[in-house]
Amino acid sequence: MAFWFLRGLRKGVVTTRYPVEVDPWAVLLPTPPVFDPRRLTGSLAERLVATCPSNALVREGGYLVLDLGACSACGRCLVVAGAAARPSGVFELAATSRQQLVKRIPIDRPDE
Ligand code: SF4
Repeated sequence: MAFWFLRGLRKGVVTTRYPVEVDPWAVLLPTPPVFDPRRLTGSLAERLVATCPSNALVREGGYLVLDLGACSACGRCLVVAGAAARPSGVFELAATSRQQLVKRIPIDRPDE
């Protein structure tokens, strides 16, 4: 960190290029969830929505809607969902439109 800071001061550079490769410690970063539609039920979806502190999860009929732009990767839904969710491992979420960050996951058994 100090190296980057001092080089920036010396050369007047205020930004750096995007890293060529992922830092090894990046695997430790918390990442947003990915859900398995085959294991989602209506009641589980409701519990997930109630659990999410960021309002990143919303139920819309037969879909669980995940807004990756609102998700803080807190992991609370992973605890509630059990086998129906896992960490995505994806932390680079750049998108050209807000809508690309919204995922609609079909609920396999919406009435259960
Ligand atoms: S990780 Fe946290 S913020 Fe993201 S969807 Fe799950 S409960 Fe919501």
